[in-house]
Amino acid sequence: TKRLITPEKRGEDADTTLRPQRLDDFVGQAAARANLKIFIEAAKARGEALDHVLFVGPPGLGKTTLAQIMAKELGVNFRSTSGPVIAKAGDLAALLTNLEERDVLFIDEIHRLSPAVEEILYPAMEDFQLDLIIGEGPAARSVKIDLSRFTLVAATTRLGLLTNPLRDRFGIPVRLNFYTVEELHGIVSRGARILGLAMDEGGAVEIARRSRGTPRIAGRLLRRVRDFAQAGGAEVVTRTVADAALTRLEVDRLGLDQLDRRYLDLIAMNFGGGPVGIETIAAALSEPRDAIEDIVEPYLLQQGFIQRTPRGRLMTAHAFRHLGLAVPSSLGA
Ligand code: ADP
Repeated sequence: TKRLITPEKRGEDADTTLRPQRLDDFVGQAAARANLKIFIEAAKARGEALDHVLFVGPPGLGKTTLAQIMAKELGVNFRSTSGPVIAKAGDLAALLTNLEERDVLFIDEIHRLSPAVEEILYPAMEDFQLDLIIGEGPAARSVKIDLSRFTLVAATTRLGLLTNPLRDRFGIPVRLNFYTVEELHGIVSRGARILGLAMDEGGAVEIARRSRGTPRIAGRLLRRVRDFAQAGGAEVVTRTVADAALTRLEVDRLGLDQLDRRYLDLIAMNFGGGPVGIETIAAALSEPRDAIEDIVEPYLLQQGFIQRTPRGRLMTAHAFRHLGLAVPSSLGA
């Protein structure tokens, strides 16, 4: 799908211009930031590797950014990979044996590690040792290799996707939440300054409101609004300029896009507001179930558009109103 606001990474996101470099530049996630600061300073004072950190939260909230910042604040190397990229145990072994003392190894989408790879990660995390089987058949033997004491920083979209033994090996679990409009306002203003884009308060707030609580989307909308402003000859991005651009991009007042609206329309029109099971929704929308659970639903849940019940997804009166539909009497209309 060509969703503009999909929080998944895309090519242009590789552009790191807008990425904060230090903990103090990082807007929002105040609780997580304060705790990390303490753990980082304590580890530095002791000259030890920081405990393993697990970031949990929807895509685009700053997990990778925080991992990079942590390496910088710790003054160590940053190595990065992701679950689906590590095909064989040997690939992970190669990465691990190349780490120096206290380095940060970042594994994105750690829930997608294969079980064979996960096996060798356990002793590496716990005892900083690799247990490898070399060779096959009768000639096979096991070797132990000592590793540098490193910090694993891992990211996942949902905690429930991790196996229990893996989850238990992280000393510092950190949950990231959707950003408030005020926080996103700060991020958009900072972004506009970095891009050299003239924008007033109203313009920044409008983009912040429509960014689905997600900095990655805020950055993307900011760039698109800049394009429209430039094409239209607007000297300053005002609320009107931002609104016109975002409306053309079919991002609505609350930041919902076509897929969000298709999702809600489906439940409203075809299932009377629910409850309806996730498999049924995924099939009807022809979208993978994972994508719906990772990308569409978290924000709709947080905004109070849907509820998760044992019998399936249920639309709220708020959602009916947002779509401009009559609220069913079962919802207390
Ligand atoms: P994740 O790893 O959670 O998917 P990223 O760390 O890749 O998210 O962040 C997505 C984008 O949003 C990056 O381009 C980053 O610059 C920006 N970003 C994330 N968090 C913040 C923040 N707190 N302040 C400013 N920009 C942020």
